Amino acid sequence: MTTIGHFIKGEIVTPSGRTQDVTNPATGAVDKQVLLASAETVQEAIDTAQVAFPAWRNTPVLKRARVMFKFKQLLEDNAEHIAELIGQEHGKISHDAAGEIQRGIENVEFACGAPQLLKGEHSRNVGPNIDSWSELQPLGVVTGITPFNFPAMVPLWMFPLAIVCGNTFVLKPSERAPSSTLFIAQLLKEAGLPDGVMNVVNGDKEAVDELLTNPAVKAVSFVGSTPIAEYIYTTANAAGKRCQALGGAKNHAIVMPDADMDNAVNQLLGAAFGSSGERCMALSVVVAVGDKAGDTLVDKMQQAMTGLKVGAYTDASNDFGPLISCQHRDKVSGYLASAEQQGAKIVVDGRNTKVEGYDNGFFIGATLIDGVTKDMESYKAEIFGPVLQVIRVDTMQQAMQLIDDHEYGNGTCIFTRDGEAARYFSDNIQVGMVGINVPLPVPVAYHSFGGWKRSLFGDLHAYGPDGVRFYTKRKTITQRWPSSGVREGVSFAFPS
Ligand code: NAD
Repeated sequence: MTTIGHFIKGEIVTPSGRTQDVTNPATGAVDKQVLLASAETVQEAIDTAQVAFPAWRNTPVLKRARVMFKFKQLLEDNAEHIAELIGQEHGKISHDAAGEIQRGIENVEFACGAPQLLKGEHSRNVGPNIDSWSELQPLGVVTGITPFNFPAMVPLWMFPLAIVCGNTFVLKPSERAPSSTLFIAQLLKEAGLPDGVMNVVNGDKEAVDELLTNPAVKAVSFVGSTPIAEYIYTTANAAGKRCQALGGAKNHAIVMPDADMDNAVNQLLGAAFGSSGERCMALSVVVAVGDKAGDTLVDKMQQAMTGLKVGAYTDASNDFGPLISCQHRDKVSGYLASAEQQGAKIVVDGRNTKVEGYDNGFFIGATLIDGVTKDMESYKAEIFGPVLQVIRVDTMQQAMQLIDDHEYGNGTCIFTRDGEAARYFSDNIQVGMVGINVPLPVPVAYHSFGGWKRSLFGDLHAYGPDGVRFYTKRKTITQRWPSSGVREGVSFAFPS
């Protein structure tokens, strides 16, 4: 049995204490246990980061960026191993893990541009012989708390940018898939990052609560489910910390009658069932405008879904893998049962899917549900499984109203050939990330990622330009060097 420890001051440490099983979701086997940090261990990591802060803050930004250049190379060199670790604990197929790692690396590439990003602004002669400039200064010790479903990419949204901006970091990854995150953090040491700048504590609520309340922690980035995001945001705010807490989602795609249906079906397959639907940007609801569009779509989806292959991460020909746990599979099955009870029609049912040789895996096949209505439990909740629900409406306005009425506002997409409709949609829909014939509109690393409504608590989105703002505070300096012999007179008027 392997024990997964913490990474503090450049070393893996394994203090005695509580542990939790880490399960391989394809086999159901438990080969590893992860240590759950006590408040004292978290305090040690925070102290370490605090000690490392002054020297790191004063390291020239170009030198900080050079660490990120090396880190990017190491991530590329080790991508296969990282994908293997993700597969073992999350169950993601290698092509999907490779995509996640690549999107993570793009955030490191953005961080490499720190010398340009942190230049600040300068104005000469704002008054007689007075110059003024703004600097973006680091905050100090900052923390990230991350979910199981992107164990490499989501941490990479956070710490490369935070660190290159001059902060030191304590990361608390998901206890359900911790190994790839821990491995990636260790690569930073190989890239030349001084010990103590990056620390990882594994754990659960006890570790998180220490991070949220410890006065040395200045900012909290969180990604996970909405109830926990709300708790993180209110607790961190009450403790006087800056916080961005990204939550759950229910992403709708509108399919207009003029859409290229074959293209829409291909796009929907990957966006709904990729990664077993365990993505915050998964498309989980299709809103078909008009019954003809609905019938065509359901027919074509049903046919296309017969070819989907579910299985273990070790076989790259599989389209997607298992769910994260047996409890989660039961929860997803429960939503299907409730949809059926509330009058929806299960067109393709993944509940009896068996994967040969993996009898104890947490598999559920791709599922399509038609005739869904907005009062159904399966519609209101984030299912987080390979389930696509179809709602039929008569007009685009009704489709948009449905989306706006939902509590989540992470991502959405419209399939259409009508530019005017698409523009109206992107202008008016109450959702943070919008696709036009693009099913998973995940912003690239030099934009920023974030939803609206109860998909994000806080003002700034993750990574990109908003990430720079989140991990720095602005200081504006106004300077005059009086010429020798010149004395200013006394004035009580406001300077103008
Ligand atoms: P989760 O909320 O259960 O856990 C996220 C993190 O919070 C983990 O590190 C976990 O240890 C910690 N945590 C859990 N319960 C806690 C508690 N009571 N107190 C303090 N900390 C606690 O989420 P998950 O199941 O790991 O991930 C899936 C969820 O994350 C989905 O809802 C998904 O939509 C969301 N997600 C959102 C985004 C986004 O960008 N908006 C991205 C990825 C995942």
